Amino acid sequence: MVLTPEVSKQLDYPGTWQQFRAWFPDEQFCVAYLERLRWPEGFRCPGCAGEKGWRLDDGSWACSGCARRVSVTAGTIFDRSRVPLADWFTAVWFMTNQKYGISALGLQRLLGLGSYQTAWTMLRKLRSAMVRPARERLSGTVEVDETYVGGIAEGARGRGAERKFVVVIAIELLDPVGFGRVRLRRVADVSSASLSPFVEYAVEPGSAVRTDAWKGYNGLSKRNYHHQAINLSATGDPAHVVMPGVHTVAALLKRWLLGTHQGSVTAAHLDAYLDEFAFRFNRRKSRRRGMLFYRLLENAVVTKPTRYRPSRASLPSGKHNQ
Ligand SMILES: [Zn+2]
Repeated sequence: MVLTPEVSKQLDYPGTWQQFRAWFPDEQFCVAYLERLRWPEGFRCPGCAGEKGWRLDDGSWACSGCARRVSVTAGTIFDRSRVPLADWFTAVWFMTNQKYGISALGLQRLLGLGSYQTAWTMLRKLRSAMVRPARERLSGTVEVDETYVGGIAEGARGRGAERKFVVVIAIELLDPVGFGRVRLRRVADVSSASLSPFVEYAVEPGSAVRTDAWKGYNGLSKRNYHHQAINLSATGDPAHVVMPGVHTVAALLKRWLLGTHQGSVTAAHLDAYLDEFAFRFNRRKSRRRGMLFYRLLENAVVTKPTRYRPSRASLPSGKHNQ
């Protein structure tokens, strides 16, 4: 049987690499898939909201209302990319189907890209699509703690100044055991002025928030949280017993940064990696890996394009950041 875009419209996403290749043999099939994600009710002109148009030879549309020429990728992260959609789709597939994602160097090799920078920019754009703007805050009982991640200072010359970044982690504890969703953010320091805004961003008011006895968390009860400060030295238990969620996440995060990204990151990189980590962690129970592929593309067609210019330190010229 030959798959046509029409047939594939009945299906949500491919389940295996073999199916992936059958679904997206060329550019036309990728365009059809994106159109279905972006315009589930059919063509919609972003200029005049008109619903009538006709397809041009190059795959884009002409709006009957305002005569505007519309590409399905216009206004998305794929806008004006010189990389074919088929390569983008392959990148999304490997980013979401490999347990630890893919590095820029790995993607460059996989797609045979001429430049590392192209691979780097693709991954950066895809990471920006991993956070839904209107996502819900965590709720129920939430553990919050900070961890330190090794990095290099932005704009550093030569080898780059080694420094540590503070990452604050919030994770839902499920009743009776297990973990729910996670939120992470790099913060300037461990002061109340840095930690409290994070908790308000990540956790629904009225939730129970468990922290250690650090004074940076003192203001939480005044901010409409049921704050449970645990005095670690008084319990006599090691921190990973009393705060199992944040310690599990911190360990996974560090292992992933070390394994996939060689550990050393700039602040801007780290922010993007945290988004990717949360995307993958929060969907870890999804039994169908193809679902992550679908979800990321679904986000990608509603995520506005951002121009990224990799800083010097992000390119593999220095030993510290391959
Ligand atoms: Zn129009």
